[in-house]
Amino acid sequence: MTYDENGIFAKIIRKEIPAKIVYETENVLAFEDVNPKAPVHVLIVPKLRVMSVDDLADEHAQVMGELLLAARDIARELGVNEHGYRLVINTNANAGQEVFHLHVHLLAGRKMTWPPG
Ligand code: AMP
Repeated sequence: MTYDENGIFAKIIRKEIPAKIVYETENVLAFEDVNPKAPVHVLIVPKLRVMSVDDLADEHAQVMGELLLAARDIARELGVNEHGYRLVINTNANAGQEVFHLHVHLLAGRKMTWPPG
């Protein structure tokens, strides 16, 4: 599989289709999930053309660090950091990945169960 330049998140990053953007830096974009699985459900994406964690290269370490720090800052801005939140990165078929542009789910606003189904 190769990276799809016309994929949904590539289009959102290029601002070709709308999204409710909550955070943006040079390397990272975050927007509300269109089909939320929790009261707060934000997707945090690197602007890199990377399909999944399995597609990462060593040179992406800096941007991936920025992604995690973005999650920290967004959780604080949305006021969910103290009660808590879950970060999820689905990778390939068994994890249920549907969109093949690497993304972190930030889920919050309700109690979550463990382990995930
Ligand atoms: P995953 O299963 O980890 O690949 O998650 C993909 C997520 O993208 C799902 O939670 C979808 O609801 C979400 N999604 C798909 N299309 C859009 C869109 N246009 N805007 C925002 N979120 C989307």
